[in-house]
Amino acid sequence: MEDCIFCHIIARKLSAEILYENDDAISILDIQPIHFGHALVIPKRHCRDFLALSPDAFHGVMDAVHVVSRALSRSLNLDGFNIFSNNGKIAGQSVFHFHFHITPRYQNDNIKFVLELKKYSEGEMAAYAEKIRKQIISTSV
Ligand SMILES: [Zn+2]
Repeated sequence: MEDCIFCHIIARKLSAEILYENDDAISILDIQPIHFGHALVIPKRHCRDFLALSPDAFHGVMDAVHVVSRALSRSLNLDGFNIFSNNGKIAGQSVFHFHFHITPRYQNDNIKFVLELKKYSEGEMAAYAEKIRKQIISTSV
């Protein structure tokens, strides 16, 4: 993709602090970190979001998430970390080349994901589950 910042980084046309790389993924430091050491794991083949990620790349991408999480945890003495991805503008996605975030967490780091949890009414949870199960399509057959 010509105007994709991550594709440019993967092609080494833009510089980045590369942490790790395998056949399917690259990991770099986020230039606007939630906390220092905040890393991204990016599939090498351009895809817009998680649903567009090729099943062939699943293992390589998750390998990179695991390897980098472990390195972050050990090198920065983390108390914990968050792994997440934003899919779609409404979910906070700002670069439309799929990526996972790995964010360092410490006691009293004052990072808050503000959530107001909902409560299912009677039978509503089962109805949601049934609706979702009807659309389950395995990609690993
Ligand atoms: Zn791209």
